[in-house]
Amino acid sequence: MKIIVRIFLALFCVPFALVAAESAPKPNIIIVLADDLGYGDLGCYGHPSIRTPHLDRMAAEGLRFTDFYSPAEVCTPSRAAMLTGRYAIRSGMSTGGGRVLFPNSKGGLPAGELTMAEMLKTRGYATAHVGKWHLGVIEGSRPNEQGFDESFGLPYSNDMDGRSKVPAGSPNPPVDGWNVPLIRNGKITERPAVQSTLTQRYTDEAIAFAHAHKAEPFFIYLAHTMPHVPLFASAEFRGKSTRGLYGDVVEELDANVGRLLTALREEGLAEKTLVIFASDNGPWLLTKAMGGNGQGGSAGLLREGKGSTWEGGMRVPGIAWWPGRIKPGVTSEMVSAMDLFTTSLALAGAEMPKDRAIDGADISTLLFERKALPERPFFYYRGDMLMACRLGPWKAHFWTQAGYGQPKPDAHNPPLLFHLPSDPSEKFDVAAEHPDVLEKIREAVRVHNATMVRGEPQLK
Ligand code: MG
Repeated sequence: MKIIVRIFLALFCVPFALVAAESAPKPNIIIVLADDLGYGDLGCYGHPSIRTPHLDRMAAEGLRFTDFYSPAEVCTPSRAAMLTGRYAIRSGMSTGGGRVLFPNSKGGLPAGELTMAEMLKTRGYATAHVGKWHLGVIEGSRPNEQGFDESFGLPYSNDMDGRSKVPAGSPNPPVDGWNVPLIRNGKITERPAVQSTLTQRYTDEAIAFAHAHKAEPFFIYLAHTMPHVPLFASAEFRGKSTRGLYGDVVEELDANVGRLLTALREEGLAEKTLVIFASDNGPWLLTKAMGGNGQGGSAGLLREGKGSTWEGGMRVPGIAWWPGRIKPGVTSEMVSAMDLFTTSLALAGAEMPKDRAIDGADISTLLFERKALPERPFFYYRGDMLMACRLGPWKAHFWTQAGYGQPKPDAHNPPLLFHLPSDPSEKFDVAAEHPDVLEKIREAVRVHNATMVRGEPQLK
């Protein structure tokens, strides 16, 4: 009987499944990524004074994640991991020594890595990168060589190419303090980039691309430069928030997300488009000791910020929006930006790469049916060190280090153990009471390490 069932499945169901995938409408996919926006910086995540009505509405109409993780604590590895669906340690984009790429770095996202854009192109998607890249300027690593038909933005962080002695975290950064180029498809169009209008111009670019490609499926990776320091807001927003320049910048970002969603509605694209909003890592806390002056973001009740594997460094705002497909709600399922790779490929009917490890999971059933995801570990890397691991509600730290200003990590043996739902601020170590949980986490780490193939280091 089993054999007959198998033959039936082989003959009918598999071809039918293929036909179904072939004919299912392929949604447009837009990822809006903020840079260094903290867990506590939006109204819908509890900020008391920054006004974010558009993101609050997006969250109210869509699915808001309480436990959305950036795959790394700083820009370069986070973006590499999101676009490839793999921890950046696998592509060599997370290494000891350098933490991110710099303008003169000799490495970049290897040409052999498969990005979400490259995979979606196999299914006929038009692809655009708009905004910060930060995955390399060397041959093979640039946006047009990594699957994007169109590219417009900055090749790296807006605080690089410095030519001013004023720290990037100053409350009034000089407009010509940085010589960062604005690049369109490999050609410099403006230098230094006029940063105060970037949020608006990036959004214009994304809206124009969506309009031009409304008849075909498209993928837009809209990676805002803000609110990474130096902070710049346009005249319309400057001085308008009660939270200083940082608030002005976030309110402008919010207004431009609103413009994008309005454009999708007006084009009749809202019901055909999955839009994700997230941040690439936690907030840069920019203490006074770092030359900052109140211009860093907030991780809310989470501990620490950018650069750290405490929750504040990697748990970030995450919102999924697709009117008619995603029902409004809030979920505390643990997801990471690497899941966007796998989920996008599944929605597009694209084949998953089979020659490499993929860490992202398809979270479609969570998005559309609100089903719990199977339990899986999440690994917190800082450079080439596996610092911590989360499994279900539990997080174990083997090493801890502040994002900035703590020269060496602290080792923990036994590891620190926190129950995140009851202790989101990671204050109360309960390792002694839960040896069984620690053992389960240690086993997950053993399995991960045993199969890990590290990529050739690129951050050099
Ligand atoms: Mg960042």
